[in-house]
Amino acid sequence: MIKKILIVDDSPIARKMLKSCLPKDREYEFHEAGNGLEGVNQYKELEPDITFMDLTMPVMTGYEAIEEIIKIDTKAMIIVVTADVQMSAIKTVLDSGAFMVLRKPIKKDQILGALDKAMDTKEKGAQV
Ligand SMILES: [Mg+2]
Repeated sequence: MIKKILIVDDSPIARKMLKSCLPKDREYEFHEAGNGLEGVNQYKELEPDITFMDLTMPVMTGYEAIEEIIKIDTKAMIIVVTADVQMSAIKTVLDSGAFMVLRKPIKKDQILGALDKAMDTKEKGAQV
């Protein structure tokens, strides 16, 4: 089964960098959104396996988008990727239902580790 990955970030460079860290095999299909609202709409349409989410974005922030996505799908696997290192920001998104928080600048091994962990958790959840 092809796994769908949704990358939500208002910076095209950040999206490109994140994509470059992810596996290139045919097992994965990538989709991108440039703000939170686009991200929510794409989520509804695609039902991605994993969503990478920036926080600071125009139109709709990542904070709001996470809340909307969790309303649609309580089991959504959202990995937040942000330059906001404040503990309060991290706590807010985890409380909203995000799976984990990674800090920018991103590191390839960190992204791959998070992807593995999220896929693993998702598959275990699906078995129950
Ligand atoms: Mg941003």
